Amino acid sequence: MNIRKLMRAMMLEAPGQPLTPACIPTPRPGPGQVLVRVHACGVCRTDLHVADGELTRPKLPLILGHEIAGTVAGLGDGVTQFQIGDRIGVPWLGWTCGECRFCRRGQENLCERALFTGYTLDGGYADHTVADQRYCFRLPDGYDFAEAAPLLCAGLIGYRSYRMAGPNAQRLGIYGFGAAAHIIAQVAVQQGRQVYAFTRPGDTETQAFALRLGAVWAGDSTALPPEPLDAAIIFAPVGALVPAALRATAAGGVVVCGGIHMSDIPGFPYHLLWEERVIRSVANLTRQDGEELLAVTAQAGVRPSVQRFRLEQANEALERLRRGQITGAAVLTME
Ligand SMILES: [Zn+2]
Ligand SMILES: [Zn+2]
Repeated sequence: MNIRKLMRAMMLEAPGQPLTPACIPTPRPGPGQVLVRVHACGVCRTDLHVADGELTRPKLPLILGHEIAGTVAGLGDGVTQFQIGDRIGVPWLGWTCGECRFCRRGQENLCERALFTGYTLDGGYADHTVADQRYCFRLPDGYDFAEAAPLLCAGLIGYRSYRMAGPNAQRLGIYGFGAAAHIIAQVAVQQGRQVYAFTRPGDTETQAFALRLGAVWAGDSTALPPEPLDAAIIFAPVGALVPAALRATAAGGVVVCGGIHMSDIPGFPYHLLWEERVIRSVANLTRQDGEELLAVTAQAGVRPSVQRFRLEQANEALERLRRGQITGAAVLTME
């Protein structure tokens, strides 16, 4: 295959600065790595947290992006899982040690030495990237690259959060109805659950979007739902939503914080937590989460709703995400 020596990439030189377009050498796959021709890369809220410096100590300069959908364009030594031309997805979890106490007990998402795509490893805001074959997924049929991209983090972290909400979450609240929520809401509805969607106060457009996807109720995050929830997932990075979600949740309910970063959680009276309510967070993903999610979405007929941007428009896509002006998921495409 004919790979150009140079490729386009949008680079983060330092936190707090806009990404800059660059033309840099196309990476070569090392042992066990595949070279991926990126067709689409999702724009995730985590990218904003990295670009803004809320997640500290990124690789610098850095290529952001951890929702990579593409094709295998080159094979490093020892690659056996993929062939040239395979449709492939690269997620946030890029490498784990396999040796620490977390890896050994099946919690590789908590690996002490994990490396993350688009944070401590270069990611997909570029024409090409390299990835360890062991952490890549085969993309399901029936999705084009732009539709598949948001499954790789929004879908995956959303699915892990959804699982943590537990089997009793018949009435499921979702706070922050963006990329992750709009995928998981479709899974939940397909599995016979009732979804209650909470948005920024007054965001009637997003509330209508949630109702179109099958939510039984949609309203402001400051409102109480018509029935107490069995569980709530918070995707918005807003700490004040934790007591709000507890207030909306019935006894024994779980409030899952699905984001990697959140503003401080304000104090709240103990009675909101009393009666065995649980607050928990979700961190990263395991490879098993990925395999399960991709199977579930394909089977449930989940259709990600995407807003496409060209690679060069990465800053605009990030800014619109920051302002809450994306319906569904923002995706960069590399045509
Ligand atoms: Zn480890
Ligand atoms: Zn993400």
